[in-house]
Amino acid sequence: MKTGIVVKNMNGYFYVQGEDGTITECKVRGRLKKGRYSLLVGDRVIYGNEGTIENILPRRNELKRPHIANIDQVVLVVAAHAPDINSLLLDKLLVMIEHADIPLVVCINKSDLADETTAEIVERYQKVGYTVVMTSTYTGEGIDTLRTILDSHVSAFAGPSGVGKSSLLNAVEPNFAFQTGEVSDKIKRGRHTTRHASLYALNDHSFIMDTPGFSAIDFSDISPERLTSLYPEFMIYEDGCKFSPCYHEHEPVCTVKEAVESGIIHKERYASYLAIREEIVSQRKR
Ligand code: GDP
Ligand code: ZN
Repeated sequence: MKTGIVVKNMNGYFYVQGEDGTITECKVRGRLKKGRYSLLVGDRVIYGNEGTIENILPRRNELKRPHIANIDQVVLVVAAHAPDINSLLLDKLLVMIEHADIPLVVCINKSDLADETTAEIVERYQKVGYTVVMTSTYTGEGIDTLRTILDSHVSAFAGPSGVGKSSLLNAVEPNFAFQTGEVSDKIKRGRHTTRHASLYALNDHSFIMDTPGFSAIDFSDISPERLTSLYPEFMIYEDGCKFSPCYHEHEPVCTVKEAVESGIIHKERYASYLAIREEIVSQRKR
């Protein structure tokens, strides 16, 4: 018996990569078949050389879209420019990842186009406590750092299209040869192929999910109270709030609002919080 990770699911077969890097085409064993649909790409399994999966190891987490298990971290990619950073969209993606409880790294690509605005964004998110890495697939800046971040993890890349996710993956591992370029071309190409999430091996112990994570932003299972906990920098100040829970909106004696007014919490982060809160509250009224 060996331990491996499911890297692909195709035509009823699960492709399992063992610790030595070899890939075995596997079927699930009879007694596991009842829950056949619950075996996901990313699952760690016990299997035999003859190609039967005997058991599934406990799952650390599960993403719904794409449906995949055991993601260690999300690399959230934006571009310094082209497209410009939309901080509301960035915060929405951060909230989704925080809600899924998956560690994350912010990657600002196209650092060759960076200016003062970019520097401010880097500082803003570092202050929240996130690791921010600047990269450029043109100059090579930060690619080694990214490679180190990806090492020994199962990672998913997320972020708007056109920011350079495919280019970054190719820069990290030239053998990947992901398609890059115009968004419209990719949509056209994508239409004729059915996409299943699968894992690409960077090496025997590092994997990258090939489809972008969190492509759909969906707050439907986030409560207003949960939202307040998805802004890590709010957690430090909310102890002084008079009400519990405090939504840091119209409540009197709110230390989060005070921290915003004194500039400790960035006003754009607070603005995005209010905007997301508004979306959640109005969704729940319907
Ligand atoms: P994706 O949609 O996020 O996968 O983005 P792509 O990897 O397809 O890249 C989108 C466009 O950005 C392409 O035209 C790339 O050549 C360009 N691009 C990628 N990385 C960089 C970079 O570091 N600097 C600049 N200036 N452009 C880049
Ligand atoms: Zn408050």
